[in-house]
Amino acid sequence: MSTRTETKSAPIPLVRQGMEDTEPVAWACGDCGTVRQTEPEALHCYGCTVAICACGETCDRGWTACRPCRAAETATQRRKRAEAAEVLTAEEWHACRKDMEPLTDGEDYFFDGFFDYSDEPPLVDAQGRPYLWRTTWTPMRLGVADVEAMLERAGDEHHEEIGEGLDWSILTEACERWNAAHPTAGSWFPDETQRVLMPVEAEAVDP
Ligand SMILES: [Zn+2]
Ligand SMILES: [Zn+2]
Repeated sequence: MSTRTETKSAPIPLVRQGMEDTEPVAWACGDCGTVRQTEPEALHCYGCTVAICACGETCDRGWTACRPCRAAETATQRRKRAEAAEVLTAEEWHACRKDMEPLTDGEDYFFDGFFDYSDEPPLVDAQGRPYLWRTTWTPMRLGVADVEAMLERAGDEHHEEIGEGLDWSILTEACERWNAAHPTAGSWFPDETQRVLMPVEAEAVDP
């Protein structure tokens, strides 16, 4: 990765009025005025400097690789994880799966909608049969952190000791009741340790 700096103007030192002979308190980019802490940071300004990708393409602002290279890297990483995963046949998956456990392509799309929505070609075997990730259920739960955040927000404008002596357990118990009342609130996430070989060709799947 290299960064384009040749055409950049010199960073502007920011000093206090009437104290021009002291060290700058910060530096502004000479082109767009974005303020950074140090002179080198202002020179390599993220506000207006673009990086050049390893392939020679110009990157989007704030990125060090171009969009196609980032997409290729994402696909490579995904393929590596897929290759490392245990492979189950659809029959093996059916035999051991829990109720309602769906399969996913890993992009939020579950099996029914996979071939409709995904831009990426599915991972397939030599016969063109696609693989999908197994999924695991993660329930949505309220916990201690949520109670703390709630109390912090409520006490925001108050004096510092406002939280002392308050009964937190009332809220904690309310959260536990809420959790118990909503056992089906949650999401399926890809389990990237196992993939399932679908018994059909990608083109033959009719969602
Ligand atoms: Zn700039
Ligand atoms: Zn590139």
